[in-house]
Amino acid sequence: MNPRDLAQHLRFYEELGVTGISRDAKWRRRDGDAAPATASGLPTSDPGHPSTAPGLPTSDPGRPSTPTGLSTSDPGHPSTPPGLLTPDRRLPTEVSLVRTPADVLASIRTDIGDCTRCKLHAQGRTQVVFGVGNPAATLMFVGEAPGSDEDIQGIPFVGRAGQLLTKIIEAIGLGRDDVYIANVIKCRPPGNRNPEPDEVQTCEPFLFRQIDAIAPRVIVALGTFAAKTLLQTTDPISRLRGRVFDYRGAKLVPTFHPAFLLRSPDRKRDVWEDMKKVRDLLQDPAEHLGSQT
Ligand code: URA
Repeated sequence: MNPRDLAQHLRFYEELGVTGISRDAKWRRRDGDAAPATASGLPTSDPGHPSTAPGLPTSDPGRPSTPTGLSTSDPGHPSTPPGLLTPDRRLPTEVSLVRTPADVLASIRTDIGDCTRCKLHAQGRTQVVFGVGNPAATLMFVGEAPGSDEDIQGIPFVGRAGQLLTKIIEAIGLGRDDVYIANVIKCRPPGNRNPEPDEVQTCEPFLFRQIDAIAPRVIVALGTFAAKTLLQTTDPISRLRGRVFDYRGAKLVPTFHPAFLLRSPDRKRDVWEDMKKVRDLLQDPAEHLGSQT
């Protein structure tokens, strides 16, 4: 096989969503097989994702269903990809088709496009506010929805609450460029009203895909709305904060929303306690092994 044909084969597999090919036995598993929770970073008990498939539920409208691995001896895959054989007809030990978190985020952004999936597109939003920061961040913040400043600039958390969030991030020795910041909802609800259930349902798959692409070690859910959405609970933030949850292979720390802190500055002390916990979790992933789910 000449190099040009090989390159075409590799591109073909990449378009199918195959991230690599290996002779290693641990790759011989397909969506739907029983798998250790850690194989995909998606715990099988994840309340947000009842499916046990190693990718995401196939019904997830934000993510096309794609194979995550490729078995060389799997009857579901009739033949070893011919372009991947070495001249002696054996597979190379490992062929890397790995897409970086930045690549994956870029393709999620492309999928969202100039979104018209929910009614918010016709209710005065200026643009989709996707997310900002380091695509390979170990720490990710999730807020509720863009406000008016974010809607204008196309960047999450740039208004007054955002400036306070920046200070919170800096308080643990990091900068905005070190972390990733996104919202549950990518478009501004009119008059900054709460997002409605149909809007959340439509938009949240994109957040889940962002989380899976970045694979942060720690997620901070900012405020009631983000915490309830991610954890699929009706508990208020006052009951959730102070605890650490296992979520999609990360530790999830709920805390107060910076906009709430602007109104109730006396609660900054609680957020500082939460952020110290975040700092510890980033330094020692084994911390809080007995986290709740
Ligand atoms: N509040 C949020 O929840 N997100 C933003 O991006 C800005 C304010």
